[in-house]
Amino acid sequence: MPPSNGFESLSRILNILNALSSLESAADARETYPEFPNLAEHIAQLFLEDRLFDILPRLETQRELVMKWQPAVRPALDPYISTQIGVLSKNFDDYETGHFLDYPDCCIRSFSERIRYALDELHERELAELGKRGGSKPYFVTTFGFVPCSVLCEESHSRHLIAFAEDSEVDAMRSLEVEIARALPHSHPVYQGSYYEIRSTLLS
Ligand SMILES: [Zn+2]
Repeated sequence: MPPSNGFESLSRILNILNALSSLESAADARETYPEFPNLAEHIAQLFLEDRLFDILPRLETQRELVMKWQPAVRPALDPYISTQIGVLSKNFDDYETGHFLDYPDCCIRSFSERIRYALDELHERELAELGKRGGSKPYFVTTFGFVPCSVLCEESHSRHLIAFAEDSEVDAMRSLEVEIARALPHSHPVYQGSYYEIRSTLLS
């Protein structure tokens, strides 16, 4: 079952990390999470060494803010947590990291094999086409750091990783960004204050 909103999508990650924090053996993590065995084992091992003691309270704080704002799209996972558990390192296969973050295979493939590391001219062209056709909502939003195979990727829409959004929805997501940044300061240079990518779909 795909998550039914951005809140459920973030809660899914918290549930996985909670489960990994309580394993007695890191090797058990491989069987529990066959879609990302190496990453799961690594995280479980870090928990066993008591090196992730501060990430669950941080994620709970982020989850409470997401519950408050009910965003259409899941915000990026707290970059401090991503760094601590190894998601931002290149030590793990893109598919493992992608599956942990609930990214669809079509998008992981386009990210990994076609080296689409950011919203690029193909996405821009799709948005321009939509703008020309008219009738679309005024904004396109993605989880920061997630690159969909297409702005129309149905899997990503259903997993709340991307959405077309109205002004009021974008206002809520920008407010959420500000509140997360204030509550959970961190030192990752790229992610400062950015939990979403937000683009206009209107022709400029
Ligand atoms: Zn896709």
